[in-house]
Amino acid sequence: MSLLSFGLFLLLSPALFLYRQWFLLLTSLCSSSLSSLQTLGSDGVRITMESALTARDRVGVQDFVLLENHTSEAAFMENLRKRFKENLIYTYIGSVLVSVNPYKDLEIYTKNHMERYRGVNFYEVSPHIYAVSDNSYRSMRTERKDQCILISGESGAGKTEASKKILQYYAVTCPASDQVETVKDRLLQSNPVLEAFGNAKTLRNDNSSRFGKYMDIQFDFKGAPVGGHILNYLLEKSRVVHQNHGERNFHIFYQLIEGAEEDLLRRLGLERNPQQYQYLVKVGRSRLSLSCLMHPGNCPKVSSINDRSDWKVVRKALSVVGFNEDEVEELLNIIASVLHLGNIQYGGEDSGNAYITTDTQIKYLARLKSPLNLEQAASARDALSKAVYGRTFTWLVNKINVSLAYRNASVIGLLDIYGFEVFQHNSFEQFCINYCNEKLQQLFIELTLKSEQDEYEAEGITWEPVQYFNNKIICDLVEEKFKGIISILDEECLRPGDASDITFLEKLENTVGGHAHLTTHKLADGKTRKVMGREEFRLLHYAGEVNYNVNGFLDKNNDLLFRNLKEVMCMSDNKILTQCFDRAELKDNKRPETAATQFKTSLAKLMEILMSKEPSYVRCIKPNDAKQAGRFDEVLIRHQVKYLGLMENLRVRRAGFAYRRHYETFLQRYKSLCPETWPSWQGKLADGVSTLVKHLGYKPEEYKLGRSKIFIRFPKTLFATEDALET
Ligand code: ATP
Ligand code: MG
Repeated sequence: MSLLSFGLFLLLSPALFLYRQWFLLLTSLCSSSLSSLQTLGSDGVRITMESALTARDRVGVQDFVLLENHTSEAAFMENLRKRFKENLIYTYIGSVLVSVNPYKDLEIYTKNHMERYRGVNFYEVSPHIYAVSDNSYRSMRTERKDQCILISGESGAGKTEASKKILQYYAVTCPASDQVETVKDRLLQSNPVLEAFGNAKTLRNDNSSRFGKYMDIQFDFKGAPVGGHILNYLLEKSRVVHQNHGERNFHIFYQLIEGAEEDLLRRLGLERNPQQYQYLVKVGRSRLSLSCLMHPGNCPKVSSINDRSDWKVVRKALSVVGFNEDEVEELLNIIASVLHLGNIQYGGEDSGNAYITTDTQIKYLARLKSPLNLEQAASARDALSKAVYGRTFTWLVNKINVSLAYRNASVIGLLDIYGFEVFQHNSFEQFCINYCNEKLQQLFIELTLKSEQDEYEAEGITWEPVQYFNNKIICDLVEEKFKGIISILDEECLRPGDASDITFLEKLENTVGGHAHLTTHKLADGKTRKVMGREEFRLLHYAGEVNYNVNGFLDKNNDLLFRNLKEVMCMSDNKILTQCFDRAELKDNKRPETAATQFKTSLAKLMEILMSKEPSYVRCIKPNDAKQAGRFDEVLIRHQVKYLGLMENLRVRRAGFAYRRHYETFLQRYKSLCPETWPSWQGKLADGVSTLVKHLGYKPEEYKLGRSKIFIRFPKTLFATEDALET
């Protein structure tokens, strides 16, 4: 919510009194001015100032803006730690919600809690994901402006859980009718379906979303949820054929094998044993080194996951979101086919061509006519598996969208998308994900930091500009036409002949080698070179440096599938597959868009969608790598505070003016407080406001007069004026 609208609703809100109580407590806590004021505590109970002060020592402040030493990272960390220890996982920076994953179930998501936040202004109650949900909902209703809630954070930080809590909040608190009940159910049940097909156990998170998700929730004029629409981004298809040690394939494979009834398994030709399936138990099917095929890296069982009971949930959810029995069977047939595909083994002929050695029910691979060597054949098989799974996932999302009957109504969008990733080994996927995070950071800058400063500038208000890093330079480096990294990569992908990952790297060196945010082994100075591989390029992201290994970049970007495999898919009698592989695609001789370009285009569309809405932010933090409750890993968290840009966010918030009003509105409301402006002011509006505030005793440091608005630094100034109106 913008500061302006925030200020407006405060002024107009009937609950202003409660808000004021809360704020007075906090500002008084800040300045340590003791009074006998009675006020609301974080749990909504009236407490005295004395006990509030003791409470602050123990639980910290609810809004980082109120930290005495707001520029100190140490103070920030201390506040976060204090609150985390008290199970207070939520804290604000102004209207941004910071959330630390508790890794345990807290009793803060009950129906009672929902009721406590319903229709109540943001600052009247303790920070909560429900407060953000409610605030967006009310802004949508009263200001008739579409909203979006952007949830960010690294893997395991709690983004998906947060988005589910928001959805549940709307499902419980919004008005309902019979038809709405169906939509609510479908909205809620779309989650288990998408998680089954799009989530997997990784080293960082047992239920890691391996795709980005943007979901619009649609509300009618009464404020009831009537529909929804989901956009999915960059599913990690490579997981279908390859998982790192200690990780798993997508949940659905294990759920099907563990949970399906005997009959169904028989029809699908599956055995109830994940160890039977190469795609589930073996790692590293690298097409470059077939020798590493046999690494045992399986982990079909995970203690936190019950595949059998999850299967039941997913099976039911599929029905709720509108899949009929035939469709479910066809969908599961595809999942089973992928497992069978993975089990196809090849042998080599004397000619060097591969032939299928396994006696498999899947005939379509046998139709692969082009002579391929062993490596190429395995790679073609894996490409087919990835394509089939990836397209089926998109089909699934579209199918859910049809059942959610998207309408043109008021909207709250939820973005749950992968956070910044830095691993030991970073590849094309991390490059795309981190590019996405650069774009989101750019949006954040555009929508909050920059617009805040721009307004001061436009109004001619002098103030100390807050230094923030504008990451446009990095976005341009990645996405610019012709000279951007994606363009250079595409060019190499299109170039016939000797194009390879290494020639791509060389081209990067030649084209953008001098860029301040890019370096390669060859271009690096002595110190940097030591920590860089020869096949790497390094990007200096807003959040820090990342080395990307170019190995596989061209293949992953091309994402090609042999034409005859596509033809076979089109001929399939599985209705879902024929929808996924359209014949029109075969006729079209144009080269399909590369993966990076497709991603770039879909991100640009996402940015447009988000720009048209009023944003709220939830910044999720993961407290430790061990997924343990109560453990606060200082180093890990400080790193996240840095790349989520929280200190910068806080600085801007503190440097700014809490409220601003157009002169006319301000005069209209308060003119009765000054004999010279009452009943009306004849001169210039700015002079009228100036006369009025001088009469009210505003000190020069408390306000500034801009071209069309008055800017008030502290809320308490405004509250005093409001008080004067009442008396
Ligand atoms: P990824 O990017 O890998 O998808 P994520 O940010 O979506 O990660 P979640 O799946 O939401 O992370 O959270 C990881 C786990 O942390 C959850 O499965 C749950 O066990 C725990 N968790 C997250 N948020 C909460 C919460 N508010 N209360 C209790 N547990 C939580
Ligand atoms: Mg997630």
